[in-house]
Amino acid sequence: MKKVIALLPGDGIGREVTAQGKRVLEEVAKVFGHSFEFPEGIIGHEAIEKTGNALPDETLTLLRSSEAILFGAVGHPKYDNDPSLPVRPEQGLLKMRKELGLYANLRPIRLFDELLGASSIKPEILRGADILFFRELTGDVYFGEKGKKNEGKTAYDVMIYHEYEVERIAHKAFQAARARKMKVTSVDKANVLESSRLWRRVIQEVGKQYPDVTLEHEFVDAMAMKLIQQPRRFDVVVTGNLFGDILTDEASQIAGSMGMLASASVGDTVGLYEPIHGSAHDITGKGIANPLASILSAALMLEISFGWKEEAEAVVKAVKQVLASGYRTADIADSDTPKEMILNTQAMGDCVVAQLARKPIAVIQ
Ligand code: NAD
Repeated sequence: MKKVIALLPGDGIGREVTAQGKRVLEEVAKVFGHSFEFPEGIIGHEAIEKTGNALPDETLTLLRSSEAILFGAVGHPKYDNDPSLPVRPEQGLLKMRKELGLYANLRPIRLFDELLGASSIKPEILRGADILFFRELTGDVYFGEKGKKNEGKTAYDVMIYHEYEVERIAHKAFQAARARKMKVTSVDKANVLESSRLWRRVIQEVGKQYPDVTLEHEFVDAMAMKLIQQPRRFDVVVTGNLFGDILTDEASQIAGSMGMLASASVGDTVGLYEPIHGSAHDITGKGIANPLASILSAALMLEISFGWKEEAEAVVKAVKQVLASGYRTADIADSDTPKEMILNTQAMGDCVVAQLARKPIAVIQ
């Protein structure tokens, strides 16, 4: 079957890892008899340099005419060190989410047993952890009114939620829980924040429509602690944009590294698939970025946007087998990993492709 997948590699290691995600999709096409077209667009720093706009109209048109999007990351040190620059790479990302109505960000925190040793958390606490985060993506402080006053000595970002925004992501979380362990944990700060009190009320109302699913609430500060103290306690977690941003980076430690966590952003139109990490200036150009988050994001695309469960499982299985064979990128290697088993970005992509094709793995670095 033919599908059009827009590629948005973006900046920094976004380019390096998306190249591997694409190769894996090409191999899936070969093995399962599909055909993909990969039109490419620009976003972030690259787009600003070329057009003055972090998300040019041509890119948006391309995304709207695609059936799914594989995105890398945006960012450049120039902007991190100068917060006064008015046009910024992340504006492209926020605009893309808003324009495409991508309100639900799914972040599966899946721990491969092979990586139990790669985390800084003890294996006995981690083993069996399997959490699906739903991070709301188009509301909260990111999209509320923002500004400066008092001659720039005061700044504000309004934390705002509307009932409909909480309702629609709550339904997605409860529906997902029905296909999992029937439990939803909603995270807020309802003891202090008015927007969180609205969040909790709406979640409780929606929860009544799913009486078979257990609903619990956690304050975000307590959740930050419990997430790494007892990760197995959680099944589906639903939370707002800011809290979800922070908690899922923390949860990356359950999966071993930022380089392992995939995500899917869905709404009413085209789905967007991306690693949760950023453009990682510290390792850009070194060829050592872990491409598995991008590859696992491609697997989410196959399952969610195209409904191809078998193809998605084949990719996840290939990743698992590569890890089981002992291959690692630097971020997921530990002190016992032999040097020759630590692969660069391209070689890790080669291994996953070879595994998919059921060819022997031949590592060329
Ligand atoms: P980051 O996620 O880029 O990196 C955090 C740390 O994790 C770094 O030490 C990095 O080397 C490591 N890391 C991340 N991905 C990795 C991978 N695939 N393999 C191996 N190691 C990996 O976050 P940051 O350093 O805070 O931000 C860097 C830039 O990325 C900033 O400009 C920021 O604005 C941007 N950013 C973009 C996105 C996005 O595009 N979705 C998300 C977060 C940050």
